[in-house]
Amino acid sequence: MLQIQFDNTYARELEGMYVPWQGIKAPAPEMILLNLDLADALGLDAQALQSPQGLAMLSGSSMPKGADPLAMAYAGHQFGGFSPQLGDGRALLVGEVIDRKGQRRDIHLKGSGRTPFSRGGDGKAALGPVLREYIVGEAMHALGVPSTRALAAVATGETVYRETPLPGAVLARVAASHLRVGSFQFLLARGDVAGLRRLADYAIRRHDPELAGRDDRYLAFLQGVVDRQAALVAHWMALGFVHGVMNTDNCTISGETIDYGPCAFLDAYDPKAVFSSIDTGGRYAYANQPLLIQWNLARLAETLLPLIAPENPKDAVPHASAVIDTAAERYAQARHVRFAAKLGLKSPRSDDDPLIDGFLDMMAAGGADFTQTFRALIPAAEGNDTALRQHMGAAPTLDAWLARWRQRIGDSDSAVAVMKAANPVYIPRNHLVEQALADAHDGNLETTRQLLLALSTPFARRAGFESHEQPAPADAGAYVTYCGT
Ligand code: AMP
Ligand code: MG
Repeated sequence: MLQIQFDNTYARELEGMYVPWQGIKAPAPEMILLNLDLADALGLDAQALQSPQGLAMLSGSSMPKGADPLAMAYAGHQFGGFSPQLGDGRALLVGEVIDRKGQRRDIHLKGSGRTPFSRGGDGKAALGPVLREYIVGEAMHALGVPSTRALAAVATGETVYRETPLPGAVLARVAASHLRVGSFQFLLARGDVAGLRRLADYAIRRHDPELAGRDDRYLAFLQGVVDRQAALVAHWMALGFVHGVMNTDNCTISGETIDYGPCAFLDAYDPKAVFSSIDTGGRYAYANQPLLIQWNLARLAETLLPLIAPENPKDAVPHASAVIDTAAERYAQARHVRFAAKLGLKSPRSDDDPLIDGFLDMMAAGGADFTQTFRALIPAAEGNDTALRQHMGAAPTLDAWLARWRQRIGDSDSAVAVMKAANPVYIPRNHLVEQALADAHDGNLETTRQLLLALSTPFARRAGFESHEQPAPADAGAYVTYCGT
């Protein structure tokens, strides 16, 4: 018997920001992957999730008692252009649960059918993109990056039509919330200041409860989101992660990474790297991410002006701008700490940046593999720099850099421990993800399971998984990703 203790605050408190909605019935739901650890952390009964009732919920076919399924309304800047009306076009918020740690979590479905926000879309998802989000989201979580997580992937038994017919699926994902910058923009676009206050106070209760009741809470809330997003993007950068579609509707208030559509990880280090087929201008290139997050945060700030200074929102501009100005420095600080750790420096100093940037410059010049080259610093600290030299090719500045670095890290034991915790062995490499999806399409889930296993402990080398460390073969060609597939 599937029994879930829902407590649906979004449905109760934010009327006008959603449409109550039901999914469509999946003809033959079948469990593809179930995240047992996450189910347990949520206090959900894994057996019940696999029962016909559980599959019905996870596929969006029918909901258990206590769920209040709804399609969220939001707006958003997509590639810089504003759409006042987006919303869940193929997703549903099932409801909220309190996990074993006392944290409120959204249970949300993606691919559950058309909604009033679908525009031209079919509301469905294909198995490949569902598994992609499952794999990358779980990898990010294991890498320590705040992220939505995958609870289950369920095949619907239906065919979804893209360029070719594909098996349909639904992803059940879990998030600290699905509030986004675009949620606030939805209300600002309608001039609904009372709604904005209600939403901001709701977001504060969920994500910054210590601010509730404070007179300066909206400005402090903005600072909270700035801090979380600056730290998040610094973490992405330190792992070579390119989100690919940093639209304001994909920019969370919680500071979790959301929506793994066109994302990719760098193999060869190239600051200009872009993978998404539609990002022809390179707006969301790897090196642009710190700038783009500031842009997105400024859009959030605009929505809070009427709350910060109700009499005259313009009076709030200098205060909100001062908070937005901190984003660059918070990012720089977080980036400094993350990249210093990658070099083995636990207590970074302000003058470490040339060491960090010198290393990255050599990597960029030689197109060195981002993940492996940082990892090769570990044997180098222990006296064996063969692998590092191979990755860096003939970098003329490497010897001088190594001498400075060895002097700076001092005791190699502690530096090695720091590097082992900051430089993963395994990341969801693009070609491995693609292989897993191709095999799953052919009915073989073993490749996906093996990949998920390696990614579940990404900092520990695992016997038999040597090929999972390797970059794409040289003849693999440029990697291209696709949105909303
Ligand atoms: P995303 O790129 O996944 O963040 O999606 C951007 C917007 O497009 C969201 O409002 C989605 O709900 C909507 N969308 C994406 N794919 C579909 C689809 N197949 N059917 C309907 N809406 C979609
Ligand atoms: Mg989205």
